[in-house]
Amino acid sequence: MSAYTLLSDPEQRAVEEAIGKAELRTSGEIRVHIESKCREQVLDHAAYVFTELEMEKTKDRNGVLIYLSADDRKFAIIGDVGINSKVPKDFWEATRDEMLKHFKKGDICEGLCAAIAISGEHLREYFPYESDDVDELPNEISFGK
Ligand code: CA
Ligand code: CA
Repeated sequence: MSAYTLLSDPEQRAVEEAIGKAELRTSGEIRVHIESKCREQVLDHAAYVFTELEMEKTKDRNGVLIYLSADDRKFAIIGDVGINSKVPKDFWEATRDEMLKHFKKGDICEGLCAAIAISGEHLREYFPYESDDVDELPNEISFGK
């Protein structure tokens, strides 16, 4: 499956809107990246994509990447060092579990939107939204091969 066809156009917009909404609660910046196949260990690869997308270029180092490969249905959610230095080790677990619950039912869009909403809610505690917020990273989904 091509990464582009995993989500329909309205679904892609729904994901982007979910990101916009979540970023009104937190200064954290959330991105979604979809590829067709993940050829290495998913966390390692997500970390690579994070750098490729230059997601470390946020003021508070609070970017969050949700990575998903369409064919093998691997996914990962990782945060930048600013987040990792503040949050408990199990910070992403609830988000990952919720995402997996939807993915198992084949609801990719809902899984992503739910994960984005929960991430925003959780991040808010450590990185509250600021009135002079800048949208530091694009909310559009990025696609790889
Ligand atoms: Ca922002
Ligand atoms: Ca953003």
